Amino acid sequence: MKSVKLIGYRCTDGVGTRCIHAGQEPDKLSGAVIPPISLSTTFAQHAPGEHRGYDYSRSGNPTRDACEHCLASLEDARYALTYASGLAATSNIMHLLRPEDSVIVSDDVYGGSNRIFNKVCTPVQVLRFNFKDLSDLAVASAALSPDTKLVWIETPSNPTMKLVDVRAVADIAHEANPKCLVVVDNTFLSPYFQRPLALGADLVVHSATKYLNGHSDVVMGVICLNDPELHDRLKFLQNAIGGVPSPFDAFMLLRGVKTLHVRMRQHERNALAVASLLEGSSKVTRVAYPGLKSHPQHELAKRQQRGYGGMICVWLTHDPHVEGAGLQAATRFLQALRLFTLAESLGGVESLAEHPAIMTHASVPVAQREQLGISNAMVRLSVGIEDTEDLLADVQHALTAVPTGPPNSKL
Ligand SMILES: *Cc1c(COP(=O)(O)O)cnc(C)c1O
Repeated sequence: MKSVKLIGYRCTDGVGTRCIHAGQEPDKLSGAVIPPISLSTTFAQHAPGEHRGYDYSRSGNPTRDACEHCLASLEDARYALTYASGLAATSNIMHLLRPEDSVIVSDDVYGGSNRIFNKVCTPVQVLRFNFKDLSDLAVASAALSPDTKLVWIETPSNPTMKLVDVRAVADIAHEANPKCLVVVDNTFLSPYFQRPLALGADLVVHSATKYLNGHSDVVMGVICLNDPELHDRLKFLQNAIGGVPSPFDAFMLLRGVKTLHVRMRQHERNALAVASLLEGSSKVTRVAYPGLKSHPQHELAKRQQRGYGGMICVWLTHDPHVEGAGLQAATRFLQALRLFTLAESLGGVESLAEHPAIMTHASVPVAQREQLGISNAMVRLSVGIEDTEDLLADVQHALTAVPTGPPNSKL
């Protein structure tokens, strides 16, 4: 397919065309331009065991196939497998492992990933997890050994927006153990801004609930990969464990993904504007957004990503010696926002704001939260695609509600 030149953006590989067309040929039977929602749970066979590729809808479904085809294309992958949620996808990946297998996880991950690793996979599957700061390659080198069976990377991380150099960590992992599976949770950037398979990852996982669907009305997950043998194992697990998405959700996801490219550009444009505004405010101690020059890994972001995405993490100014001052600053800011809705989740067209310590990351152990800087003064923003000026006005107004911090708090 001829590539589409998008002036001002680095995606010149026809990704927008793929969003709209991959897996979405007009229906062979009727010519329907939009893939039909195939609700039938079972499919007629010509003779026992002889069918047209579908026998039972958990094992395979035409709407799900269309969706998987499109998602594979977007990640430049040979295969995609979809699930009832991002965590169902995660659970399937963990079922590739055997009891006592060792897993290294980047230290700042989605709260639900932390929960399934620590509270399900550890006690039930007897897997061994070690959380390490993989943004530090010396730490990664020391942590990865021939025993490491899987590395779980989230970059940018949720919520602190730390980056991991995927190529470097994948090289270290594969050198230590050529069979080590390198998994990247690509939820925060979507394939529009980052393609981990090209950086050496073996598996890419998404909460498709977020940017891929983009409209906060579907819970779904996806795994993308190239290796045929690994695909067969995961395809077996998808059917055997059974956490598949409904045909309706697969249809909704295909509908959402048609505008991924348009949405991601506007998410980024708005996020960069909001992050710059926050950075210039006396009510803010620190902003973490990979698109800002102040981000400690801005150069890595430029090299590894095709853009910076729509997620921002911000720490509000407060007096650290006053008990509860951090929470008060964050709460005042969150309650004063009018366009940003106070809610969990991210990646939808509407702007959302949340308090990770109390909301999305409450399941992360307190000591780990403190070490990562997930403090009570921290707020996470999922910047939507509303008009930039309106979002800036909303944030500007909410900052006025934050109490003035001590004189040197910006240091
Ligand atoms: C939401 C999220 C998940 C989990 O996905 P669900 O669809 O909610 O199960 C995993 N990783 C990241 C980064 C997420 O934001």
